[in-house]
Amino acid sequence: MENITKKKVVTRFAPSPTGFMHVGNLRTALYTYLLAKKNNGTLILRIEDTDKEREVAGATEHILKVLKWIGISWDEGPDIGGLNAPYTQSERLDLYKKYAEKLIKYGLAYPDPYSESEVEEFRKKADEEKKPFLFREHRPMTFEKWDGTKPLRFKVPELKVYHWHDLVFGNLSAGHEALDDFVLIKSDGYPTYNFCHVVDDIEMKITHVIRGQEYISSIPKYLSLYEGLHVDPPVFVCLPHIMGKDGIKKLGKRDGAKDSLEYKEDGYLPEAMVNFLALLGWHPSDDKEIFTMKELIEAFEVERIQKSGAQWNDDKLNWINREYLKKLPTKEQEEYVEKFIPRNLKDLHEYNRNIINKITPIILERIKNGKDIIEMAKNAELTYFFGKPNYQKDSLFFKSSKISQENKYEILSSYLEKTISLLSNIKDSDFNKENVKNTIWSYSEEVGRGDILWPMRYALSGVDKSPDPFILAEILGKEETINRLNTAIKILKI
Ligand code: GLU
Repeated sequence: MENITKKKVVTRFAPSPTGFMHVGNLRTALYTYLLAKKNNGTLILRIEDTDKEREVAGATEHILKVLKWIGISWDEGPDIGGLNAPYTQSERLDLYKKYAEKLIKYGLAYPDPYSESEVEEFRKKADEEKKPFLFREHRPMTFEKWDGTKPLRFKVPELKVYHWHDLVFGNLSAGHEALDDFVLIKSDGYPTYNFCHVVDDIEMKITHVIRGQEYISSIPKYLSLYEGLHVDPPVFVCLPHIMGKDGIKKLGKRDGAKDSLEYKEDGYLPEAMVNFLALLGWHPSDDKEIFTMKELIEAFEVERIQKSGAQWNDDKLNWINREYLKKLPTKEQEEYVEKFIPRNLKDLHEYNRNIINKITPIILERIKNGKDIIEMAKNAELTYFFGKPNYQKDSLFFKSSKISQENKYEILSSYLEKTISLLSNIKDSDFNKENVKNTIWSYSEEVGRGDILWPMRYALSGVDKSPDPFILAEILGKEETINRLNTAIKILKI
């Protein structure tokens, strides 16, 4: 990698503010960042906002927020300025005009003399003849002077086969069918992406352009423009598509191509997201799967980006997220859990931070992300930590109970009484799950485990599904555990 180029690496991430930033764009941003960092290069953030019709208000702020969340920083950009300012294309219109005039001077740009309906006619005719529509076949013999009211088109300097090397896709080439007189500046005065990104890449001295593979088919156009401007093109790095869960179709909204910030809201840690996205189309030379950003920068090699589509895999993302959750310092784990405990539980008067600290390890064992905590709460799997359980007395009986039907309430009450008396012998400070288990285990074996442990668990939780009674007892503490067992006895007497 060190010899990727003799020049200092200058690269850019150039999103368009046309909507939320999805994970595909985020992966492009990450690889661009890794390439720059790995080579002690420069990363420029450029906002490509010349398609005014598709622009969405607030999208630029959103993009910056996503990048910051995930830990990608840039050396120059609209928020921090830099030697190449401004970094928003709509503020660079004079520059594009200058380049357009240069092309006019070289005889390589001309105003499109046709009306929209005339161009539409040409297109229709080509369709009927089952031929590709090529504007250059209708290029006027002489060029009028451009007054800015008509689109300005590029005149392809030479119809030839272009060959180029892509660092991921290898040696590529395309014949003149890929070349056409594309629009440089539209009649609204704004340049097209095809034109202004090339101008900016030249002006900002970009050495490496990283973007999705959907751009490969347009590269001959860009090469002809570089040629027309007498400038060497940068190194191209196209990234493989991200495929959906089926591995066949491109990643769709349903399987992950959602707003990147939704992952934040669902409780994916930025470190996990970075790790997961880095492995989506790139792999290290060994089997290592967990990487910090620093380790990624060290290990990253463009040559190891794969050509074939990378498959989105929720299970892997969840696994990585769990790995990072496990590694968080205890205090941060507790803050994470507390953030996802719903308001209605926090509003219960028994809610306190102490309980959160106690339940954090058992919650973390059961979840992949914060959304699961919300789900657990919805299923009443957490309520019993924050308030007294509420249940019918018959639920206290184990399904395969051996207790005789005749005086079953008295018998179960006596079991609970005995359980209480055993637990009472444990010192407050020793009331942990191991001691609770050791204290009642032989009694439960003697009577029948289900008839002791189920009622105890139910009395503490009031629900069918919960952690085991020893864990519940430890979390609730001695006093509350005994209180709840006494409540169960009262309920049995009603
Ligand atoms: N503005 C383009 C996009 O968002 C950038 C493509 C490129 O990196 O050149 O897709």
